[in-house]
Amino acid sequence: MTNIYELFRIIKSPTVADVALIAKAYSFAENAHKDHKRYSGEPYFNHLFETAKTLAELGMGATTISAGLLHDTIEDVDVKCETIETEFGSEVRFLVEGVTKLGKLHYTGETRYVENLRKLCVAMSKDVRVLIIKLADRLNNMKNLELLPKPKRDRIALETLEIYAPLAYRLGIRKINRELEDQAFPLVYPEEYAKVKTMLTERNRDNTHRLAKFHKAVQKQLVHDGIARMKTGFRHKGLYSLYRKLKRKDWDIDKIYDISALRIIVPSIADCYRVLGSIHGQWRPLPGRIKDYIAFPKTNNYRGIHTTVFTGEGGIVEIQIRTEEMQRKTEYGMHFEYKETTRNPKLNFARIAWVKRFFPNFILGNKEIKVTKNKPTAEVPTWIQDIAEYNKDAEPEAFVDNLKSDFFCDRLFVFTPKGDVIDLPKGSSPIDFAYNIHSDLGNKMAGVKVNSKLVSLETELQNGDIIEVVTKNNAHPTSKWLDITKTALAKKHIKDFLETGKK
Ligand code: MN
Repeated sequence: MTNIYELFRIIKSPTVADVALIAKAYSFAENAHKDHKRYSGEPYFNHLFETAKTLAELGMGATTISAGLLHDTIEDVDVKCETIETEFGSEVRFLVEGVTKLGKLHYTGETRYVENLRKLCVAMSKDVRVLIIKLADRLNNMKNLELLPKPKRDRIALETLEIYAPLAYRLGIRKINRELEDQAFPLVYPEEYAKVKTMLTERNRDNTHRLAKFHKAVQKQLVHDGIARMKTGFRHKGLYSLYRKLKRKDWDIDKIYDISALRIIVPSIADCYRVLGSIHGQWRPLPGRIKDYIAFPKTNNYRGIHTTVFTGEGGIVEIQIRTEEMQRKTEYGMHFEYKETTRNPKLNFARIAWVKRFFPNFILGNKEIKVTKNKPTAEVPTWIQDIAEYNKDAEPEAFVDNLKSDFFCDRLFVFTPKGDVIDLPKGSSPIDFAYNIHSDLGNKMAGVKVNSKLVSLETELQNGDIIEVVTKNNAHPTSKWLDITKTALAKKHIKDFLETGKK
């Protein structure tokens, strides 16, 4: 079932060092998990192998693939992180530890906090590769849900739909986004799933034959116009994506034109425009639906030309035209260009800049964004260069400082015992947390448990901490608290109490 050569076949031109690292991680993981079984009774190592395979398919490097093989060793079979570092280096350790930490985050269905939880995932990952390993891990777990106890299965499915599928989308990995959504959808919304499926089946009964006929006619037309090198085929919309669109269109399936889009893939950009000319020469396009995302890429860097035409037999079909390279980026994101040059100090820049892809508004606030022509040096991966082009200063360091002060250095995400996410400035204490929830909670605070342990009120909170405030009716703030707190809100409540609150 599992075969290391299968991995090597997927990786594009691996070096000797790549092969050695992956082979070592492979046998280490196989051995560490040798007595470890999944719910189904199959060897646990299958899960690690499938995760690594997904990472290889995404074009990730040997370090990430190795970390994928090792990602459950700390949590599940008690391997020490020091051992991972000794055997595989600090970078693999960093990635495995990052995935382990992410695994402790749970979404319990409080929609108010869903965006904060996504941000927390991003902040805790620190490096995009941690998140990509987690996505590959989740993808494989979703394929093996049936045997889990129902409450656990439902929680994982909901978390996948609300947290991980949107993150895959924002990373531009459509393939994983679609697969996660379509596996979670029937579990989270069984009735809606059934309804959408029935609607689609009925529509396909009418349409499949007409679409096939149109497909043939398009191929014939393109060849007639001298475009011989091309790949064509239908792309069918995922059921969850169709469900969301149906909700926006009053459940009228006839208003959705891209349920099945005809995809045409040609060698060059010039060919894309020739295809568009050829198609419009034969079929009349719907006004307002011609989108040139080659000249004007979408904000997530999606590129391609879309047009919607009347087929001449009462049908309307969307056509998507792009090059092979654009097609690959659409499905797998831009991460396959990620060069694993982590020992380069420039990576500090890389580690932070990628966050902007997720929350551009959150991070940049209302600062003006200008495109600069100064490109960072060639050692920075291309997809990060793309981001850096939005840098208004030519200095990468200044750009990083902006992001740092706006995101990593300043914000902290912690949990209430119920799992609500509270967003605080970094350096906050449990007192800030209490006042952030309610002034009464702060004013009666007598102690605090962080991650179930009683600690002092001066403890500096860390990302992902679970905070439980202990109150007593006779407890009250003291002037010392003013030195311990970080937020203006807490300081204000404490001052109010010290001035007026005494009974
Ligand atoms: Mn796992």
